[in-house]
Amino acid sequence: MRLLIMGPPGAGKGTQAKSIAEHFDIPAISTGDILRANVADGTPLGLEAQRIMAEGGYVGDDIMNGIVADRLAEDDCAKGFLLDGYPRTLPQVEAVDEILDRAGVELDAVLSLRVDVEELVSRLRKRAESEGRDDDSEQAIRVRQQKYLDETSPLLDVYRDRGLLVEVSGVGDVSEVTERIFQALDRVATAS
Ligand code: AMP
Repeated sequence: MRLLIMGPPGAGKGTQAKSIAEHFDIPAISTGDILRANVADGTPLGLEAQRIMAEGGYVGDDIMNGIVADRLAEDDCAKGFLLDGYPRTLPQVEAVDEILDRAGVELDAVLSLRVDVEELVSRLRKRAESEGRDDDSEQAIRVRQQKYLDETSPLLDVYRDRGLLVEVSGVGDVSEVTERIFQALDRVATAS
């Protein structure tokens, strides 16, 4: 299965991505995790990304496209993958199209996790307390939600038009949402 998971910050993408990846025995690739690992290691990329991430902005498309092209070229992605947090912009959609075209493969589905804004802000405040991510400050949360609305949510229409969008409610217990996702994606897997 070749999958994307999309949804606003705080929708639970990272948590669900891990369960989905296990279910389909594919790697979950989080571009946010890759960037955070670079920040932790103090690499040149990490030094560049740190400030942008802390402010809630987006790291440049060229950088992100390069990271994802390299990661998808690794052996474990031959059996499929789940991309979490990428693509976030239209140029990133074009880049992933090109990467997959060149490899002669296609996406099977794009999962959209739907959660309303009030619920999201309250979840992110709780995460700020428990995980201490520096992009979970009140201001950064607001910037990230707005960036998602302006730049990333239009991508849902692109994938809807391609007939790839699978929409699932992200509200409820984590395990309840996981079950809902499995049901929706298992239908895609049997159809393909
Ligand atoms: P995430 O863990 O997916 O919420 O990502 C955390 C932060 O990393 C985002 O707020 C962005 O600053 C940056 N980031 C992650 N993925 C991307 C991407 N595809 N394009 C641009 N910035 C990204």
